[in-house]
Amino acid sequence: MALETTLILFKPDAVAKRLVGTVLSRFENEGFKINGIKKLFLTDELLADHYSHIADKPFFPSVRDFMQETPVIALALEGEDVISRVRDLLGPTDSKAAAPGTIRGDFGDKEGDAKMRNVCHASDSTEAAAAEIKRFFKDGEVF
Ligand code: ADP
Repeated sequence: MALETTLILFKPDAVAKRLVGTVLSRFENEGFKINGIKKLFLTDELLADHYSHIADKPFFPSVRDFMQETPVIALALEGEDVISRVRDLLGPTDSKAAAPGTIRGDFGDKEGDAKMRNVCHASDSTEAAAAEIKRFFKDGEVF
């Protein structure tokens, strides 16, 4: 077991559907601790950095437009093995393939853009988490 901090983004679908409180409760019920929380608009520059691994994919422009539909809510979330445990709580990228009981299975888009409108982003490794927390939070904003 390792004490880690991960970066979560509540995506615009979660914000528009007023799902932030419900999903946040799932994280708190797991025993995870909120060390930072803020609302912010993702500029083209931030999105180019954050999604550099999909920048050459044909769906990237749609993802960028989606992520700019509303400001998002970013969390720095701490807990034992939080990085992999949150990824398990979320389920796979494709909400249609996500099992009931997972966050994407319960709240992700099932009709249209199931692979895109999937409620939350969460860091997928310790390296990514460290880089992403630095990207979205300034010094003094994570406690
Ligand atoms: P994850 O967020 O599950 O780690 P990726 O890092 O592979 O997934 O992709 C980043 C985001 O890009 C996804 O969360 C999703 O919103 C979007 N995305 C991924 N694959 C597709 C796809 N095939 N079509 C549309 N959007 C996609």
